[in-house]
Amino acid sequence: MENPEKFKDNLANGERISVFQAESSASGSPPGTPGSQRTALILALCALIALVGWLGWQVYGRGTPLTPLTWEELAPPPEAAMRPWTHLVIHHSDSRKDSVASIDRWHRQKGWDGIGYHLVIGNGVNMGLGIVEPTFRWRNQREGAHAGGGEQGRPYNQLGIGICLIGKFNEEAPDPVQEARLAELCALLIRHVPTLSAARIIGHRDVPGKGTDCPGQLLDVERIRYLVRQRLAGAGD
Ligand SMILES: [Zn+2]
Repeated sequence: MENPEKFKDNLANGERISVFQAESSASGSPPGTPGSQRTALILALCALIALVGWLGWQVYGRGTPLTPLTWEELAPPPEAAMRPWTHLVIHHSDSRKDSVASIDRWHRQKGWDGIGYHLVIGNGVNMGLGIVEPTFRWRNQREGAHAGGGEQGRPYNQLGIGICLIGKFNEEAPDPVQEARLAELCALLIRHVPTLSAARIIGHRDVPGKGTDCPGQLLDVERIRYLVRQRLAGAGD
């Protein structure tokens, strides 16, 4: 059997150790104590989380270096004869988290045969910032379903290229990268589609008879026309 006196001594030592530890953490942990190790671990963990977040942002979001759009990647296949487009109709998705796939699902639920727009520009949430994605309507040179179903909207659906920017531009302005990409895309289309011009860039709200504020109060279509004219005038651009 253990000596009861020795047991008491051990207990007393243990208590003394506990008191010493409590005092040392109360008086600010000197280097090497468990408290400072914990702080260092938490800091290292925070740094790791920040690094992973930053890398993700670099790869998928704002930091992704965008290569200039080329007609080769945008041109419809030769068998799809170019429609005699008359307008570029700008829209917003009125949401921050959409993509071609999610809009396609939504428009199919309405009974349409797929996404109503011809081209979509991402905002860096579920589609990379400034990424331009042509849809089946553009690739097959099909008429759009974006300018309204009425008589007045019909010519804009048949001959208007529907470009949708993911975003909610009644609440926040488009990211400058996304705005620049829109101007780049419009300029490229105007260069290759002879029936288009900067003056023929309109907002969805400009379609006669439409009671909509799409593409949102904070997307300035006149500024887009200005940026497009600058690009068209730029040498070699
Ligand atoms: Zn619209």
